[in-house]
Formats: sequence, C-alpha cells, structure tokens
Amino acid sequence: MSIKLCYNFFMDVLNSIKADENCADYMRFYNLLSSENKKYNLTSIEGEEDFLIKHIADCIAFSDLYDDRAKIVEIGSGGGFPSVPLKIKRKDLDMTLIDSNEKKVAFLENVKRFFGFENFNCICGRAEELSKGALRESFDYAIARAVAPMNVLCELLLPFVKTGGKMMAYKGKNYKEELSLAENAIDKLGGRIKKICDYDLGTQGDRAIIVVEKITSTPDIYPRRYAKIKKSTL
Ligand code: SAM
Repeated sequence: MSIKLCYNFFMDVLNSIKADENCADYMRFYNLLSSENKKYNLTSIEGEEDFLIKHIADCIAFSDLYDDRAKIVEIGSGGGFPSVPLKIKRKDLDMTLIDSNEKKVAFLENVKRFFGFENFNCICGRAEELSKGALRESFDYAIARAVAPMNVLCELLLPFVKTGGKMMAYKGKNYKEELSLAENAIDKLGGRIKKICDYDLGTQGDRAIIVVEKITSTPDIYPRRYAKIKKSTL
C-alpha cells in the first residue's frame, strides 16, 4: 500500500514538473550539472527523475511565497540550490548567491552565462564576514538549504535581512527538533517564527520551509566568528 502511495506521489510530482512551462530549462540545468559535476564536485545526482524530485520539486515548492521582484540572498548555494531552480521559475527575483568555495562560485558564474540571467550576482566569501559590511540588513529574504542546523543558520542569515523581511530555511525531516533548539537564537537575532510550510517529497521524506520574520534589527555583535557560532550556539 505505501509503495503504491509513494509511486502515485512520485508520478504526480514528475507530471507536474513535466507540465511546467520551465521544464526544458530544468533539463538544460540537469545536463549542465551532469557534465560539470566531476570538475566542480557539486552535488549527488542519480539520474533525471532523482534530480527532478530531489532538487527541482524541493526547490520550487512554495516559490510563490516570494514577493514580486524580491531581493534575495542565498548562503551556501553550492551547485545552485535552491536559487537556480527558483530563478528559472521566477525570473523577476533579484538574487545574490554566496558560497565560500571558489570552484562552486565559478560554476554558478557559468550557470549565469548559460541562462543569460539578469539580477543574479555570485559572490565568493563567508556569510558571517559579508554580513558585517555593505550587504548587512539589505535583503527582503535570506535563504539556504543544507548549510547548517537551524540555530547556526539563523546567525548566518538574519543579519542580511531588513527589518520586515524574512529568512527562509529549507529543511529536511528533523526540522521540528532543529527549530526547538533555535528559539533563543531567533529571538536574540531579531526574528520571530512566522510559519512553517511543510510538504512531503515521497521517497525523499518530509520537508519544510521555516519562515522567520525579522521584527527588529540584529544587534551589531552578531554574527560572531564561525568557530564561536558553532561552539557556543545561541
Ligand atoms: N545549498 C546547496 C544544496 O542544497 O545542494 C549546497 C549545500 S552544501 C552541503 C553547503 C554549501 O555551503 C557548500 O558549498 C559550502 O561551501 C557552503 N558554506 C558553508 N558554510 C558557509 C559560510 N559560512 N559562508 C558561505 N558558504 C558556506
């Protein structure tokens, strides 16, 4: 019975992506990633269907949460998830992608040229250093997938968000535990949990986007050095 349910779910998700007007671009991205993966060591992909579920369906879930022409920063983009699928689906979004790994940023620059994306900036650097400078509190949204546990992630993301903006954490099945450990961090950094958008990725398990709104400015002492953020979580 459960196999049938998963199979039906799987087919539903695949069919909805295949019917999406952007499907050809998702597949162009798949081909680019597959051919460059070895060179840049980007991500694990086990075939087209795995890619469409694990990466595309996951990243474009709730893509309508973002306001028109919103200014978004993504931390730890790696091979471009969720930013690239989001940008393919929502060309209006103004995206800044940050990763500390030079090779990955070189790949993201290739993606930008390949698709001819506008308003798509790629920066090589560490989030906790960049949010101390001109990018501080300058974005409507700060987003990340698979970068750090929630209590660490809040200190990396919230300093980039304007008061009134939001942090969006793309999380896997342990999101409730992670969230319970992050309540203090959210509060200290000027945030408040707004909502949790949870969804079922079938064989990939439960997923959620944790939406934290920024209600007051983040105190200047945050973020701390990365070693400190990890060692004494807020
Ligand atoms: N978000 C992508 C995904 O979902 O496939 C990549 C996730 S990968 C596991 C984590 C990425 O975060 C790596 O590319 C790493 O270089 C980057 N990263 C980790 N900590 C960072 C930091 N403090 N500042 C900038 N990038 C960071």
